Amino acid sequence: MIKFSYNFELERIVEQIKAKNAKSVGIQLPEGVRPVATELADAIAAKTGAEVIISGNSCYGACDIDDKLLRIVDILFHFGHTEYSGLGSHSLLSECEKVCFIELRSEVDVKPVVKTAVTELKGETVCVVSTVQHIHMLKEAISALAQHGKNAITGKSPMLQYAGQVLGCDFSAAKVPCDEILFIGSGSFHPAGLALYTGRRVVAADPFTNQLMIFQGEEERKKRYLAVARALDATTFGIIIGMKSGQCNLREARRLKENAMQRGLNAYLIAMDEITEARLLAYKYEVDAFVNTACPRLTEDFIQGKMLLLSAREFEVIIGQRNWEEMFNR
Ligand code: SF4
Repeated sequence: MIKFSYNFELERIVEQIKAKNAKSVGIQLPEGVRPVATELADAIAAKTGAEVIISGNSCYGACDIDDKLLRIVDILFHFGHTEYSGLGSHSLLSECEKVCFIELRSEVDVKPVVKTAVTELKGETVCVVSTVQHIHMLKEAISALAQHGKNAITGKSPMLQYAGQVLGCDFSAAKVPCDEILFIGSGSFHPAGLALYTGRRVVAADPFTNQLMIFQGEEERKKRYLAVARALDATTFGIIIGMKSGQCNLREARRLKENAMQRGLNAYLIAMDEITEARLLAYKYEVDAFVNTACPRLTEDFIQGKMLLLSAREFEVIIGQRNWEEMFNR
């Protein structure tokens, strides 16, 4: 595992396989670390003699366990995420006990990028959050900020394992009184969502590149207000039911459909595994706009696209069940 600065916990994997006497092992890795999949499979097979099957499907979050692969292996190692109890209520997984989560903790020091971020932090009280990859370094980040005169705090989601941990669908850790948010991690997926759902300014600090990105709450929200405004004239809606193992929320989809019909709108339930614009385009002559009951962050991926995709909360604004100001409440 030389190419990535993550802890793949090979020893724990081997222990689990031996303890369960597993003969067939599945491994499921996020896109970013997939180049190491074959090396990892070789290492597991060499140390245990087990057959290893690599999942070639998506691995977006703990909600996205490869349930088909799970059915044909004795144990499945799912990398890069922690178990999320918030998904349990509508999980399609039938054999959760066969899934072992490997968090992929990063070995990169966060202190240099925190020092860089201080130059961009304007407020006195800063809420610090991160993904599971850097969560073990949150205390160090907080004390580094304190050394620079900042009052650094964090919150905790009741659904997640660690204080300061966020998911794209759970930003509860950032819902604390503060002037702005410091997100430690890579990419724009989490910081853009943090800005959108908290309405605050977010400084995103990437410990791998030592680069910063800034996200403004109002700017992120404006994009969504425009999307909702575009849907005000729509008369036919496709209510999407996510068929990934932890994203299926049939009750919510049925409720939204019923409410739409009561308002005199047409609504259809559409079940999908992967929600892509190409798939939605197949309905372009029948459906004016779609409503997403799967991963809430998917909605934002469609902002530049041809097909309009709203969140459930946004759709409630359309059907008069929610005020515009309450659109981002979760
Ligand atoms: S529902 Fe979306 S944001 Fe939540 S864990 Fe799954 S992929 Fe991540």
